[in-house]
Amino acid sequence: MPLLRRLALLSLFSTALLTIGCAPRTDAPPATSGTAFENGLWFDGEGFVPGTWYAVDGRLTRTAPSVIGQRVDLQGGHALPPFAEAHNHNLQNAWGVGQAHARYREHGVMYAAMLCGNGESAQAAREALGPDPGVDVLFASACISSSDGHPLRMARTQPDGTLAPVEDIHDTSYIVMDTVADVARKWPLVRAAQPDLVKAILVHGERPEHRDNPDMHGINGLAPEVLAPLVRRAHSEGLRVVAHTESAADFRTAVEAAVDWIGHLPGYRIWDGMDEADYRLDDASIALAAERGIAVVATANLAEGAARGNAAKLARVQALQKDNLSRLIDAGVVIAIGSDRYDATSLVEFDYLRGLGVMSDAALLRAMVEHTPRLLFPDRRIGRIADGYEASFLVLDGNPLTDADAMRRIRHRVRDGHVVDQPS
Ligand SMILES: [Zn+2]
Repeated sequence: MPLLRRLALLSLFSTALLTIGCAPRTDAPPATSGTAFENGLWFDGEGFVPGTWYAVDGRLTRTAPSVIGQRVDLQGGHALPPFAEAHNHNLQNAWGVGQAHARYREHGVMYAAMLCGNGESAQAAREALGPDPGVDVLFASACISSSDGHPLRMARTQPDGTLAPVEDIHDTSYIVMDTVADVARKWPLVRAAQPDLVKAILVHGERPEHRDNPDMHGINGLAPEVLAPLVRRAHSEGLRVVAHTESAADFRTAVEAAVDWIGHLPGYRIWDGMDEADYRLDDASIALAAERGIAVVATANLAEGAARGNAAKLARVQALQKDNLSRLIDAGVVIAIGSDRYDATSLVEFDYLRGLGVMSDAALLRAMVEHTPRLLFPDRRIGRIADGYEASFLVLDGNPLTDADAMRRIRHRVRDGHVVDQPS
């Protein structure tokens, strides 16, 4: 509550007491005002329990404030923390914000990470999002790869199919680091990009012969030995590093280098000439990821697009995904939800993971509303319906643990204690 309003309320309160002849008690708790959210069913991490929660000064509390400014009847709706999207690119620049911003509000996604781009595009996106975008976005505006690495090919390709000169892309669309010495030499570019996160790209780093193959030009990644010095440098400046990993060897490189998150679970596609063995994570790397608290954003739904309608291909990839995900989950590695889909939000990844059946419905819901928001914003009290946590939540028209569609039937979106829209 603004200070002036609080003072005004306090003075009214004191005047009232004086009028009836009582001296105000100096040990009385300060008057508080807030909103009561009544008749809701609230997610406790396992299921939904009935109750009333209050929002006071943007925080959740079970303790009724002395003044209830507004009462909101949730009419038996299912309340849970907002959704999060840990891997996308569709809010990465101002044009994308124009295309995709409304979808985030509609889908109830209030926390997101955009995993590439540069300082300029991130700044333009922030401006396009405006001061109250309804979604808190992290920008990996320092996106680092090799001179022949992803996203070079994508960034060069013009709408008419021609290729822009490599020099226009290098150290502009993404930052090039080919050698360990480049980490220090190019670090001013990282700083200048003012990133919320650093993105480092590994693509089959165990196959150095790809560098000589023209078919691979523009889709390779960092030389494996560059990653650990890069991570050390980022950490020394308080920056977290997300790694794009394509193969099991990339995963091992990333975990040994102590990145903060893995941006893709390897094996959403099996490259030509390779097989399951190239993508099956080894147990030691999984154990090290667990020990170091390295989360994995699975982006497993990409398998569907990559299979291009080939059911046998998809079945092979899904068997691989189940094997890798089950062993990660059993080891205690946090699985975060991110779609990496321009035309979608993390809801498609949620649905895909539910279809794979690798975790219980409650665990999957916790991944969406608790683990993913906390991965994105570890210093904030978000992702739970609990005392002192930020009063942002969704109210669904149905129980998402038993009715998958309920995830898309949002009755209310509440942000910092305010109902930001009414039932649609
Ligand atoms: Zn991506």
